[in-house]
Amino acid sequence: MTDLAPYAASDHNSRGRRYDEDTPPGRSEFQRDRDRIIHSGAFRRLEYKTQVFVNHEGDLFRTRLTHSIEVAQIARSIARRLRLNEDLAEAISLAHDLGHTPFGHAGQDALNVCMKAYGGFEHNLQSLRVVDKLEDRYAAFDGLNLCFETREGILKHCSADNAAKLGDVGERFVKGRRPTLEAQVANLADEIAYNNHDVDDGLRSGLITLEVLETVPLVAAQLNEVRQAYPGLPERRVVHETVRRMINLLVTDLIRQSEANISKHVPATLEEVRGAPALIAYSTEMNEQQRALKNFLRIHLYRHYRVLRMSAKAQRIISNLFDAFMADNRLLPPHFQQQVGSNDTGHLPAFLEKQQESDRARTVSDYIAGMTDRYAIREHRRIFAVEELV
Ligand code: MG
Repeated sequence: MTDLAPYAASDHNSRGRRYDEDTPPGRSEFQRDRDRIIHSGAFRRLEYKTQVFVNHEGDLFRTRLTHSIEVAQIARSIARRLRLNEDLAEAISLAHDLGHTPFGHAGQDALNVCMKAYGGFEHNLQSLRVVDKLEDRYAAFDGLNLCFETREGILKHCSADNAAKLGDVGERFVKGRRPTLEAQVANLADEIAYNNHDVDDGLRSGLITLEVLETVPLVAAQLNEVRQAYPGLPERRVVHETVRRMINLLVTDLIRQSEANISKHVPATLEEVRGAPALIAYSTEMNEQQRALKNFLRIHLYRHYRVLRMSAKAQRIISNLFDAFMADNRLLPPHFQQQVGSNDTGHLPAFLEKQQESDRARTVSDYIAGMTDRYAIREHRRIFAVEELV
């Protein structure tokens, strides 16, 4: 990492941490961020959170943990080739899904509906909340006290309303500016990872077939090449070799196009990156091709009736839990009960009562969002099944 581009993020141009700390000896600031993320409780829980397939459906499917590791691998490769800060790209990648609820998108949609009257639920915002507030591992501060650039990268999307409340880290959404190139890399590495591993997992599960998948040009081109080069290759290997080549193709295209964009705009500093258009991008042709793949997966995998059945169950679990905790917060474990105080608000003015209810909902939402798939299922059973004692 001695040869960083002048527009890469570095210890020298970082906006620093919210609470001042001494410079870490023997590590860069972003290495320290990465290390703190790996040691967090939220990171370990990713192992038991759904990406598309619920964790107990099979040991070979991606979980949020293996997904995050794949994102980090792809982001590092791209960052290195572009002379960007690999440690920052890695830190953002490993942390980008920390705020995800159990049961993937179905869980997040359900929690968002539950939280509608209390400001809603966004998983990107929740990831930031985890690293800024919810992790309780350090004596001197709440959260992990990460560098500004890592926090900004974790906040991949954000509604304008919420961005305005976040201060400096939400500023770019208000002013229409860009994050670091490392954050842009991590964002696209996320897409490359899930599009390709969902093809792999989708085929393994039998929910999609190679025959249907061949209607996607990006897949068909690689598949044909593999079949021609290796006639008679067993199908599993054909799939793996095809997916491997697709990842390579997308990464190579992204690097080539981003290099062209960078040499066109010639940002001299990180500040100029923020004012430039998004420089990390695919070529127009590749962008169309990867969108077609995304679209295919949405129709054939994410909306497959078996995935939707699982999603419906997940949504029921989440909203049942939310309602039960809101109706009686004495059902919450002690640590969360302390945060919400009493259900009985006494004779407070209406606006304070409303605020208390809203705070209580946020705590319930933090508790539910932090659950793994299997913990949520167990907690649901403990609360609703009469056969269970506690
Ligand atoms: Mg992701």
